Amino acid sequence: MTPALALEAVMTHPRYGELIEQLRALAPTHVVDQVDAATADALHITTTTGRHALGVDHVTPTTVEQTPGWLRLGLLDTFTAWLAGKASTCRHAPDPHRPQPVIAAAWRPGVITCGQCIHLTALPRGSDRDRTCDACGRVCAGVEHGDGIYPGMVQFGPLIYHYGTCGDCRSAFTTDTGPTSATESAQQRQPRGAGRVRPRGQRGRGRGKGGRR
Ligand SMILES: [Zn+2]
Ligand SMILES: [Zn+2]
Repeated sequence: MTPALALEAVMTHPRYGELIEQLRALAPTHVVDQVDAATADALHITTTTGRHALGVDHVTPTTVEQTPGWLRLGLLDTFTAWLAGKASTCRHAPDPHRPQPVIAAAWRPGVITCGQCIHLTALPRGSDRDRTCDACGRVCAGVEHGDGIYPGMVQFGPLIYHYGTCGDCRSAFTTDTGPTSATESAQQRQPRGAGRVRPRGQRGRGRGKGGRR
């Protein structure tokens, strides 16, 4: 069993919430506080990015069970690789022991960046990879042919995980507004642009011309 699958098994356990409460009670207060702060920051980024870049006005709470397998396994693979020190990171090397919001993308397995380095997950605009559905692997014709990629993101603790799906896979991914859980998602209703929205990467590229740090 891979670490991701092990974590998935725990998270889908009916008593997961109870387990988390016990772990929180056992962990030193400052660790719980740090994780909570990073999680709150990540949720804030998810919400504001969802509003400004994806054009969604709300973030939908979702549960592990409601998240499709390809999405949660990809997310957990990258997340557990990061915890184990095996992920590729940006040069700021975000450390799971000092929780801060971090970014990963379905199309860049095993890569974790800090909030400033999201451009490292960018794909060449209009490229085949940029038009590839992260769920079924189909290369879409492009939004100008009515076949675009729907960008979405899921927040899991301090991690913000970006993905893009074709129209068919998007409609298969429904989220109910159930009880709040570890995962939050924001998903765009309409495809736009030539491919995925890369909110902060775009700004980063613009600034980069003048000499990026
Ligand atoms: Zn960085
Ligand atoms: Zn698809």
